Amino acid sequence: MRGETVEFKDRQLEIIEIVKEHQPITSEHIASFLNLTRSAIRSDLSILTMSGVLTAKPKVGYYYIEQDEKEKIKDVFFNVKVSDIMAIPVVVDAKTSIYDTIVAMFLEDCGTVYVTKEGYLQGVVSRKDLLKICIGGNDTNDTPVGIIMTRMPNIIYMTANEPLIDAVEKIIKHQIDGIPVVEERIIDKQSFLKVIGRVSKTSITKHFYDLYK
Ligand code: ADP
Repeated sequence: MRGETVEFKDRQLEIIEIVKEHQPITSEHIASFLNLTRSAIRSDLSILTMSGVLTAKPKVGYYYIEQDEKEKIKDVFFNVKVSDIMAIPVVVDAKTSIYDTIVAMFLEDCGTVYVTKEGYLQGVVSRKDLLKICIGGNDTNDTPVGIIMTRMPNIIYMTANEPLIDAVEKIIKHQIDGIPVVEERIIDKQSFLKVIGRVSKTSITKHFYDLYK
């Protein structure tokens, strides 16, 4: 769906006109205007919502999204770079104990800590990763965080020049709270990743709020 123009069928164009005139309007009500059943227009409605022409509020109904508004939102998603919104990453060495990692998470007020070895990205540890090890009754002072982290090559990361839309899509697709932003260093023909930032659900939400303010 990224950015392409969608051509709508006649019935979908009719639905757009009905919604523009009567919004908010329920699917039942739209169907009655067309002398159709609700299920007959279900796929049209999902095409229109997926392509960003209509939006649905539960228990209220469908609204038309002004297309120049949509262009503005698209502009933000495609033109804002990860470097514009990234926050300072919280990083610990893989040898750090689970206990000290939890302390770092509290002190830095973050939900994800990036784990490095000799300064380069090795893994990620989330709140729930830490909760899991704690309820397992392990000695959190004696266990290094490197044991429990999600590790390379399974880490989803980004570089600073990538657009915001890619961060959003990765967060949704992989069901994670955030993504480390890295710079690649080649040493002896091997690739190492230096963590230079983090982009998270919070930094993205904050960016949209700042635009609104
Ligand atoms: P939580 O586990 O607290 O809900 P997340 O949803 O961010 O937080 O993490 C879910 C799982 O995905 C955890 O096991 C975590 O280690 C892992 N994870 C978090 N961020 C990333 C990432 N950028 N790449 C790969 N795995 C990640």
